[in-house]
Amino acid sequence: PISPVDEIWMDGEFVPWNEAQIHVLTPTLHYGWGVFEGIRAYETEEGAAVFMHRAHMERLHRSAKILQMDVPFSVDDLMQAARELIRRSRLLSCYIRPLVYLGYGEMGLNPMPSNVRVAIAIWPWGTYLGDEGLQHGVDAKVSSWVRIGANMIPTGTKACGVYINSSLAKVEALQAGYDEAILLNEHGEVAEGSGENVFIVRDGALLTPPLAAGVLKGLTREAVIEFAGDLGIPFAETRLLRQDLYTADEAFYTGTAAEVVPIRSVDGREIGAPGLITKRVQDTFFDTVAGREPRYRHMLDVVGAG
Ligand code: PMP
Repeated sequence: PISPVDEIWMDGEFVPWNEAQIHVLTPTLHYGWGVFEGIRAYETEEGAAVFMHRAHMERLHRSAKILQMDVPFSVDDLMQAARELIRRSRLLSCYIRPLVYLGYGEMGLNPMPSNVRVAIAIWPWGTYLGDEGLQHGVDAKVSSWVRIGANMIPTGTKACGVYINSSLAKVEALQAGYDEAILLNEHGEVAEGSGENVFIVRDGALLTPPLAAGVLKGLTREAVIEFAGDLGIPFAETRLLRQDLYTADEAFYTGTAAEVVPIRSVDGREIGAPGLITKRVQDTFFDTVAGREPRYRHMLDVVGAG
């Protein structure tokens, strides 16, 4: 459940939380034609700081471009709006959800990309897969749902409709008693979690599926790849099969909501307690977002006094 914050930013205005409503015939609600982002702000010594802020807003713009939606606000406008929203809320850490959708007007399957609306909501959101999972690892299930192909709906976008695929996998995993899903693509290769990228460690090297496997270019994934380089951990993008998950020395998820979460088993095959490489990457991540890693200061956008 979301603990309400006072306001939601809608098309340039700060609207009271309970009044942030849209018409039931908003096309995006019917057909999923919209794009969104998931961003986190963390508490640092300098106050709230948004992790990879510009990169997230840029990805939002790219997602919109793929769906031929003209976002009526620039990346800088959106960053400004999110910062202002955080300042006004006085939250020190929060989740940030920008949404680009089609406003009320015309119905039908030919969306009206001219009637584009933007909202940004923020709310306090604790660890997505639980504190216990963050510390000891989560149990993953390879989904019976196949990750949607890039020529079905562009998987490089955070398009609203794509998330039916993710939700089906997440619900199936939870109903079967697991914490999270891992989806394979149409070729049977490992793609990603329902809202996370997947990494494994094999023989001391960090491996993750290439973008061509149909995965989202996760920004946490990008950060982790940068950390690995600096930590001297060998890294490669490589196609992975289901059996590679079962025999991995270590495995973890990365994502804005999930952060860096160890995977302790896949389909009941034990991987074990979080390993050394997972821990080093995880520590670097949490030090970075808390502003304790001067080297990665460029990944943070301090909200400041405005
Ligand atoms: N894959 C999918 C399908 C996602 O929804 C997300 C979350 N945005 C990710 C991966 C991880 O991306 P990021 O690290 O940018 O949050």
